Amino acid sequence: MSWNKKQAANRKKKIQKRREQKLCTNCGGNTKGLSLCDRCNEIKNERQRASRAKRNEAGVCPACGKPLAIGRNRCQYCYDRKKKANERYREKNK
Ligand SMILES: [Zn+2]
Ligand SMILES: [Zn+2]
Repeated sequence: MSWNKKQAANRKKKIQKRREQKLCTNCGGNTKGLSLCDRCNEIKNERQRASRAKRNEAGVCPACGKPLAIGRNRCQYCYDRKKKANERYREKNK
C-alpha cells in the first residue's frame, strides 16, 4: 500500500470512529448529534455560501459549476437529478 493510500485509509477509519462516537468528523470536537461541531459547520456553511455566490455571479450551476441549462437556475444534469429526487419523494409520500 502506498503512503497516500494508507493515510486515506487511516483518515477514513478515524472519521468512522468519530461518527460512531458522535464527534465532529472534522476536528473531533463535541457536536449536538450532527456530523460536524458548530464551528466546523459554520466554516463549511461559509465556504458553501462563498462558492455558491461565486458560481451565481459567474452564471454557472451553483451545485457543480457546469454551464446553466437554458431557462433554469442549474445545469441540465443537476436539474434532472433534482427532478428525479422530487419525483421519488412524491412517490414515497403518496
Ligand atoms: Zn469540528
Ligand atoms: Zn450542476
